[in-house]
Amino acid sequence: MDQSKLSNKIRVVSNPKKVENCSEQRLQFYTDYASAVSETLRKPLFQKFLYWIIKRERIEKRAVTDIQVRVFPFQKENGNCLAGRCNSDDGVILIFPKKRSFLKKKLKNHKKEKLRFYLKSRARAALIHEILHMKYEGNENKVRQLTKKYFGIFMRHQNHDTQNLHAIQKMLFAF
Ligand SMILES: [Zn+2]
Repeated sequence: MDQSKLSNKIRVVSNPKKVENCSEQRLQFYTDYASAVSETLRKPLFQKFLYWIIKRERIEKRAVTDIQVRVFPFQKENGNCLAGRCNSDDGVILIFPKKRSFLKKKLKNHKKEKLRFYLKSRARAALIHEILHMKYEGNENKVRQLTKKYFGIFMRHQNHDTQNLHAIQKMLFAF
């Protein structure tokens, strides 16, 4: 196994204490969610795209040491859920899911396929965002602006229709 490959650094991680206190159904939901995210982030086309960003932005190749796809969401004090977090000193990136309650609510008005696509896009955007933090550290504005730019480029390369792209970008970057 090539240890330097980014895809080999992606792993699903759960908090044992949270697993213990989780209902079976809820655990199943978050476990499936995490494996879908991990699969999405490992896809060769997306990996290739990440390498292109790393090269273009001159981010040090060894900067990222560990990419943890977390099973459980991380709720901030203001009630919002965090999409990702990173420590640029040790190169660890955490990717968090959306809350199940949020998705249940959304399922009333949106198709399952559309939601799934949104969740995958959210995870991709989160990883791009955190990789950019490896270089731009605390410069949140710069990181957000570049995330939006690169995410848009990736989506256009995937031949998604423009209307869909705008809808997804609106959902992702409405902060
Ligand atoms: Zn950030």
